[in-house]
Amino acid sequence: MDEAEFKVTRGDIIARGLRCACPNCGERGLLASWFRLGKACRHCGMDLERSHGFYSGTTSIGYVAAIVVILVPLCFLVMRDVISARAAVLIGMFGSAAFIVAVYPLMLCWMVAACHVALPGDLPANGGTGRRGDD
Ligand SMILES: [Zn+2]
Repeated sequence: MDEAEFKVTRGDIIARGLRCACPNCGERGLLASWFRLGKACRHCGMDLERSHGFYSGTTSIGYVAAIVVILVPLCFLVMRDVISARAAVLIGMFGSAAFIVAVYPLMLCWMVAACHVALPGDLPANGGTGRRGDD
């Protein structure tokens, strides 16, 4: 199916993903808890469970994001003698853990959005089944 024929476009999916909303219906309610997606969207029922394997990369992305956002800036602060190495190690350990926990729900939502940006035709609103590789 051509992108122009989709009711929900890739732009819609990205915008919905950024605000942690369902890529299919645009309503919020994808998360079962802070660290877990629900089995399905609470509003439209789009299946979220079948794609969990794809979303399991969230933790790895969190580690990379923590390195970029927390650890690299700390290294520069130590190199410029703004903070001590001891302070940087402590801030790095606890800051990285806190950062990953804080952004985990966003990363889950963004992984859902990324999956459907790649395969917009799988969205039920676009005539798909909500499953990956089921065209
Ligand atoms: Zn939905």
